[in-house]
Formats: sequence, structure tokens, C-alpha cells
Amino acid sequence: MFDQTFNCKYLVFLQNRKSIFTQHRGFGILMSENVEKYIKRKVYKSTNSRIAQKFVDAGLEKIRACINCGTCTGSCPSGRRTAYRTRSALRRALTGDESVLQDIDIWMCSTCYYCYERCPRDIPVTDLIIKLRNIAVEEGYILDSHFGLANDIFYATGHGVPANGEANKKWRDLRESYGLPPLPPTVHSYPEALKECQDLMNAVGFKKLLDNAAKLKEERAKAEKKNEEK
Ligand code: SF4
Ligand code: SF4
Repeated sequence: MFDQTFNCKYLVFLQNRKSIFTQHRGFGILMSENVEKYIKRKVYKSTNSRIAQKFVDAGLEKIRACINCGTCTGSCPSGRRTAYRTRSALRRALTGDESVLQDIDIWMCSTCYYCYERCPRDIPVTDLIIKLRNIAVEEGYILDSHFGLANDIFYATGHGVPANGEANKKWRDLRESYGLPPLPPTVHSYPEALKECQDLMNAVGFKKLLDNAAKLKEERAKAEKKNEEK
């Protein structure tokens, strides 16, 4: 009985929520019909930074229609728990505050797409944050933990969470406890396929991106050390 009542209430809640979203999306679509004029409006120097140009080159020119309303920030579940502020990160990027690239906060976005759903200008906010991260990595601002995962684990083993090797016995035990073979039918079971994975990662520029990021990071660290010694 309790379950039925609860389920019923939950369904009503979901229906209301859907209708709010449907209305909101309708509003967003109406707005997006006018959005072209905002994209094409005079571009002020203050929002014409190098990063803004990279957004435009990536097909994300809709950012120029941002009215700075802060709905993205107000909607962001990550922002409730961290210092990350969506609107502010984008504004800094647009106005040429390049320190945003080294700001750890931009990595706090969980790519839930809630901001994108609610933006009154129908701006692909999440895609912009992802692009901002891409630019950060291209320019050598990659977190050590991400670099380690991408380079030392993913590239080296072909897995995000490797199950081979003595250190990962717990994963094999866990698999076996569910009646699975200890190793999955991936590069772990077919090690000759690892080279193919790496060839693919080389072909799409993944490894080059990581090597370049590591090089830039090292150069920056050296320059900082030199400055400190002066
Ligand atoms: S919700 Fe959209 S219009 Fe509002 S600040 Fe965020 S990106 Fe700009
Ligand atoms: S996609 Fe990222 S920025 Fe947007 S609401 Fe979700 S966590 Fe926040």
C-alpha cells in the first residue's frame, strides 16, 4: 500500500516536472528562433577573447547570445557542493581571463546537462565547458590524476580500470565471485590487441595531446622555478 501511494506520488511529481520542462523547452525553442540575431550582434572587444574565438571555431558561437542571467549557475548540482560557478567560468573565458584554464573548478562539472536544459538562450553550456577543458589540456593544464589515468593506465593497458597484474587481483576475485572469468574478453584476454588500441589512440592524436600537455607542464614548472630563484 505504502509503495503504491509512494509510486503514485512519484509519478505525479515526474509528470509535473516533465510538463515544466516541456513548457520551458518550448520557451527555449521560441527564444532560439531569435538567437541568430544575438549571435550576429556587434561583438564587443571585452567578449572577443582568444578562447571565445576557439569556441566560435568549434561551432559554439551561440555563447555570444548569453545574457549573463546565471540560470546555469543556479541549476548546477556541482556548484552547490564546490566553488565551481558555470556562468562565471564562461564569462572569464569570454572576457579573456585565461587563468580560467588552470582553474581546478572547471573539472568539477559532472556533465549532467542540467544547465543546457534550462538555459533561456538554449546555449549548449555543457559543450562549452567540455570545450574549455579541451583547450586547457591542449595548453598543458591537465590535472596529474587525469594525466596518470589517460597516459599510464588507459594508453598503457587499454583499460580505464585494469584488472590484470598482481595489484588488481581484487577485481579478478570480484569477477569470479559473480561467476565471470577472471579477465574480461578485452585486451586483457587478447594482449595482441593492445597495439591496435594504441595505434588508434596515436592516429586520433590522443597520445600526441598527452605528450604535448606533459611537455608544456614541465616547461612551465621550470620557468616558475627559475623565477623563484631570481
Ligand atoms: S543560463 Fe545561458 S544565458 Fe544564462 S548565464 Fe548561463 S549560459 Fe548565459
Ligand atoms: S553540466 Fe556541468 S555545469 Fe551544467 S549543471 Fe551539470 S554539472 Fe553544472
